[in-house]
Amino acid sequence: MNFLKKTYYNTIIIGAGAAGLMCAIEAGKRGRKVLVLEHAEKIGKKILISGGGRCNFTNLDVNPENFISNNPHFCKSALARYTPQDFIAIIEKHGIKYHEKKLGQLFCDGSAKEIVQMLQNECDDALVEIKANCTIEKIEQINNSGSETAFHVTGNIGEFNSESLVIATGGISIPQMGATDFGYKLAKQFGLQLTKTVPGLVPFTLNEKTYSELSGLSIDSIVSCNNTRFRENILFTHKGLSGPAILQISSYWNDGDEVTIDLLPAIDLESLITEHKPNKAELVNVLAKIYPKRFAETWCEINFPSKPVNRITQKELDLLTFKLHNWVIVPKGTEGFGKAEVTKGGVDTGELSGKTMEAKKVPGLYFIGEVVDVTGWLGGYNFQWAWASGFAAGQYA
Ligand SMILES: Cc1cc2nc3c(=O)[nH]c(=O)nc-3n(C[C@H](O)[C@H](O)[C@H](O)COP(=O)(O)OP(=O)(O)OC[C@H]3O[C@@H](n4cnc5c(N)ncnc54)[C@H](O)[C@@H]3O)c2cc1C
Repeated sequence: MNFLKKTYYNTIIIGAGAAGLMCAIEAGKRGRKVLVLEHAEKIGKKILISGGGRCNFTNLDVNPENFISNNPHFCKSALARYTPQDFIAIIEKHGIKYHEKKLGQLFCDGSAKEIVQMLQNECDDALVEIKANCTIEKIEQINNSGSETAFHVTGNIGEFNSESLVIATGGISIPQMGATDFGYKLAKQFGLQLTKTVPGLVPFTLNEKTYSELSGLSIDSIVSCNNTRFRENILFTHKGLSGPAILQISSYWNDGDEVTIDLLPAIDLESLITEHKPNKAELVNVLAKIYPKRFAETWCEINFPSKPVNRITQKELDLLTFKLHNWVIVPKGTEGFGKAEVTKGGVDTGELSGKTMEAKKVPGLYFIGEVVDVTGWLGGYNFQWAWASGFAAGQYA
């Protein structure tokens, strides 16, 4: 009896990442006895590496359209009840300095460590217990008194019972950081459907070796695929293409799809060429005024042999402009989960309540954060989903 009392919690949360910690804080504030079990040696490891170590913790402009899911409506309820302003209020309460880098993206002025420390402090205030280095061995559902269900969690550090069990184990991207497929396996154990999981926000690999020589160069572009477009930089890499515009579009790309890159999003090439006709400048040198020189050279070698611009006919100019507006690639693939910022897909939202994040078929079982089939754009949206879904579950779990 004494043993049971010691290991009983109202709420057990598996995974001390962004979503799990937010849920723990909220449930703790409601007076729930909360335990967070984390298999890594410390909490919030992905937060620490996020945003280049400065954590792009939210975005000033969050809309359901910034998220991808089989059910685009699912995220609306949680996002409406926990807004970027709500998270900014906690940041400010803890005196963390931040700035907008671009496109509404908010980063810490100092370090992502401040966010993890803030979450730890909030957990302490809400009397949340956190146990790291815990390997979960088994989770079973037990029937207490006929109607009330409960969960029995067996780990290497002990056995624990709870009324509510929240799965916040994230996706499988960056396995070297401790990511596991635990959440998906547990969903299957309880008979819940999953949608296909693929790497999201991930660089493309290309067959063409020619472009690998351009590795490190970055160009302002509009990248489109499957009726979605992003205007940002693309970045040439040894293996293919990356950069914000490519990472964004990768979440909309399926194997074999074409991706169109407009390399002239804001430049009137005809005027530029007309301007340089009197001095008979070489095309490659004119292009080098708007692109890095190495790119201009490679582009001309592959697509359009350079010659003095005064000798370019209107037909040739039209073709050149068309090619620069419509560089079509078919990526060989992506750099995979090892390089993906997120996992697209996960626990099917049809299995969950959008209000509480509780599994419809399994009362008391909740899924939050990246493990759910809701994937945000690059730019602070994935953390906002983690905070919002964690907050939603924290009101009920
Ligand atoms: C390099 C990188 C940079 C990123 N930068 C940003 C950014 O700046 N802004 C942004 O919005 N998003 C960013 N993201 C995405 C963001 O980090 C995730 O979407 C977010 O962390 C998801 O939160 P989560 O709590 O669902 O999962 P996680 O933060 O992944 O937390 C899951 C936790 O569960 C633990 N866990 C996993 N398996 C088990 C298990 N079997 N038992 C116990 N514990 C387990 C993990 O160790 C981890 O602590 C970045 C991702 C990466 C990889």
